[in-house]
Amino acid sequence: MCGIVGYIGKNVESVVIDKLKKLEYRGYDSAGIAVNSPTGFAVFKAKGEIKNLEKIVKKTDTASVGIGHTRWATHGKPDEINAHPHVSADNRWTLVHNGIIENYSEIKEKLVGQGMTFYSQTDSETVVKLLQYYDKGDRFDTISKTISALKGSFALAILRAEDNKIYFAKNKSPLYIAIKDGEALLASDVICFKGFAEEYYVIEDGEYGSVDGNALIVKNEFGLVGKAPVELDYDFGDVENVYDHYMIKEIYDTKNALLNNYEYYSNGNYKKLADLDVSCFDKVVFVGCGTAFNACLVGAKFFKEKFDVDCFTEVASEFRYSRPKLNERSLVILVSQSGETADTLAAHELAKLNKAVTVAVVNVEYSTLAKAADVCLPIKAGVEIAVASTKAYSCQVLTLYMAASILEASSRREKPNFDQVKAFLDGLSFGDTELFKRVSETIRYQQKIFMIGRGADYCTANEASLKIKETCYLNSDTYFAGELKHGFLALIDEMTYVVVFATEKEVLAKTISNAEEAYSRGARLIVFTCFDDIDKSFENKCEFIIKVRDIGSGLQAIENIIPWQLIAYYTSVSKGINPDKPRNLAKSVTVE
Ligand code: GLU
Repeated sequence: MCGIVGYIGKNVESVVIDKLKKLEYRGYDSAGIAVNSPTGFAVFKAKGEIKNLEKIVKKTDTASVGIGHTRWATHGKPDEINAHPHVSADNRWTLVHNGIIENYSEIKEKLVGQGMTFYSQTDSETVVKLLQYYDKGDRFDTISKTISALKGSFALAILRAEDNKIYFAKNKSPLYIAIKDGEALLASDVICFKGFAEEYYVIEDGEYGSVDGNALIVKNEFGLVGKAPVELDYDFGDVENVYDHYMIKEIYDTKNALLNNYEYYSNGNYKKLADLDVSCFDKVVFVGCGTAFNACLVGAKFFKEKFDVDCFTEVASEFRYSRPKLNERSLVILVSQSGETADTLAAHELAKLNKAVTVAVVNVEYSTLAKAADVCLPIKAGVEIAVASTKAYSCQVLTLYMAASILEASSRREKPNFDQVKAFLDGLSFGDTELFKRVSETIRYQQKIFMIGRGADYCTANEASLKIKETCYLNSDTYFAGELKHGFLALIDEMTYVVVFATEKEVLAKTISNAEEAYSRGARLIVFTCFDDIDKSFENKCEFIIKVRDIGSGLQAIENIIPWQLIAYYTSVSKGINPDKPRNLAKSVTVE
């Protein structure tokens, strides 16, 4: 994942650090910068968040070019040695890398055979060592030879001693460049250009080149590439935070985010989608990872209810290796908050290779997936900074609900009616905070939490469980309620909490029976329901009963998740965890 930055101009150290902070959502295992200095490169690295780096960087007036990195470790421990930038043994090259060099051990072995030594465990160090190895004076030749030797993904920002330029190369990891009156900025996300430039350049796979304050040179294997700038006209949203954490801010943002989504689609922004005719497809496949996958589970239910077509859900990292049978009669709906999720992009590539029609459901509208898909459906959640997704999940679910309604209406040559959505949103509240805090005070001490449900309740249970894992570091697992007796009842004892999702009318009695089975074996119950008429003798067996509105439509999935996002937040905070930056995770998963 990692975020990379390069800058040419004044106050280099401050600018690079400031821009790195905008990319910290991409990783926070370590951070580092390198700038030019009269005596070679000045390199500073620190473990953990950027604030640690900030404390040790010595600012100069002399630096005119610099690169920076915020890391999510893939190869090598998250320590100072493995932190980027990496530097060649002859001190002539330094670089920052986002991606994975899949053949790094092969390269390393070859270079060690040539007498080179390695100081880190990273795959990235092999790239800087290759630059030294191929350096015969011509910079582009050196870079071209180096990247030809690499397999895998990379966005690289490279400095060469003596040159007041940033060199770069890209394959499968995002890279953008902006130039302004003698200054240049290179970054993993265009969010860094806000306040810097009004337009920027998109670097494509297989391209490499250099940038100084005035000129951009881009090449690929065929020679020079002409580039037209793209206008920076995105609304990056409000990222000021008056709350203790972004996670709680973003949960409270949910209602506005959903209203934005509702307004966007009510205003008829769905022309391309409505042109699709679901009856022309043999199957609809929903693909995503993590939270986005859980949104896919819900979305598939919406489509199954409305259309006579087979619907499947696939985890993106499995999809591409599962030999999916796809053709022009397949509709593939890919969900990704960032639109840069490497596994989801790979799934998209495969879908297109097989001529499937693709729909991207994304939050970042300028992302790779948004641009590559046949139809893009923005979820309109606004910027989401906390690693654990909250408002974006709700907006993904709403977008899929809207999409199913739009397609159903267009199949009847009608306009979709979203009155029910508006009524749902008008009544949306954040529930009983005191009750959620009490639940969190109980579950924070538990070793075993199981969440069970049937139908759409299972999907919500999956997402609730993911929030608890991500932000509270608790073992929380999800099971189909009917599966208890087929194995996992063996795990139940007096120390087990079972959270029972019971908002599906049709299977309510069955779900309650499953909860009773767990209770009989000693489990402690937390019941989550929208019904008032649950049997009193069962209610007496529950430690907590959480009640929400009975929505009577697929929107129940949104109603149901918000309390669990809040419970996860309060539990996380009470355990002293920073819910915005859970250990070992990052927001935008740009490696496979
Ligand atoms: N593979 C590199 C490392 O572990 C970069 C990681 C990334 O971009 O996620 O340092």
